[in-house]
Amino acid sequence: MAAIDGLPPLREVIATHGLAAKKSLGQNFLLDLNLTAKIARQAGDLSTCDVLEIGPGPGGLTRGLLAEGARRVLAIEKDARCLPALEEISAAYPDRLEVMNGDALEVDPLARLTPPIRVAANLPYNVGTELLVRWLTPPDWPPFWQSLTLMFQREVAERIVARPGSKAYGRLALLASWRAEARIVLSLPPEAFTPPPKVSSAVVHLTALPEPRYPADPKVLERVVAMAFNQRRKMLRSALKGLAPDIEDRLIAAGIKPTDRAETVGLEQFCALARAVAG
Ligand code: SAM
Repeated sequence: MAAIDGLPPLREVIATHGLAAKKSLGQNFLLDLNLTAKIARQAGDLSTCDVLEIGPGPGGLTRGLLAEGARRVLAIEKDARCLPALEEISAAYPDRLEVMNGDALEVDPLARLTPPIRVAANLPYNVGTELLVRWLTPPDWPPFWQSLTLMFQREVAERIVARPGSKAYGRLALLASWRAEARIVLSLPPEAFTPPPKVSSAVVHLTALPEPRYPADPKVLERVVAMAFNQRRKMLRSALKGLAPDIEDRLIAAGIKPTDRAETVGLEQFCALARAVAG
């Protein structure tokens, strides 16, 4: 496989540094640098941005981001075994790659980034969904990021871009459509990864809206939709009864029938309900 940056092919990097994939860290690596460059291109024009990359592993996507012209990349990796491989990339792109060894769910990288900032990641899906929800629900808006380009299991990607009334519609779709524009930009079969996971994957690109589509307190909205979809088959008056003793009145105030089920309720009504519950 041709290297796009004068560095050794990723298979060689993995062999040299003994980076046998660890299941516990969700390690399914992308080794085709043409593919990682293609993913990097989905993130938009990187030449004027700092890129926050989560989970660089041996650095396939990192190399794609740098080769595609990212002004600077800050990469957070939990697995210390990957650091020497990432150091080699840093040396090939002087002053353009900084690596932090840590858990992306715990460290705060913002002080090390200069806006505008884009985020790119190929992560284990549980870490990816947790971070996506955090990135969509800060107290203030617009957020620190302009766009998120994230790899997910295909099924999770479909949940992020789902429309009301569909089976995949739920918390992720609501939060994503509330404050961002989300679309699937690339689909990848299991064989694109080493080792191959059991399921297909997809890259989702989210662009932050200048303002949320409707006003609501993010924490309240998140709680309301999480409860509503936790028991998606139940009528909302039952699914949400723990939220407020007079939940029927609040549903009616938000223009929602208490006998409706979560999957038939749109974003505007959920935001109205979050306001009715908060007020
Ligand atoms: N980006 C590389 C690629 O595309 O080949 C690696 C992708 S692999 C699916 C996920 C990477 O995320 C691994 O390198 C893993 O060690 C790292 N990782 C897992 N959990 C993490 C966490 N909580 N914080 C930071 N990195 C994490």
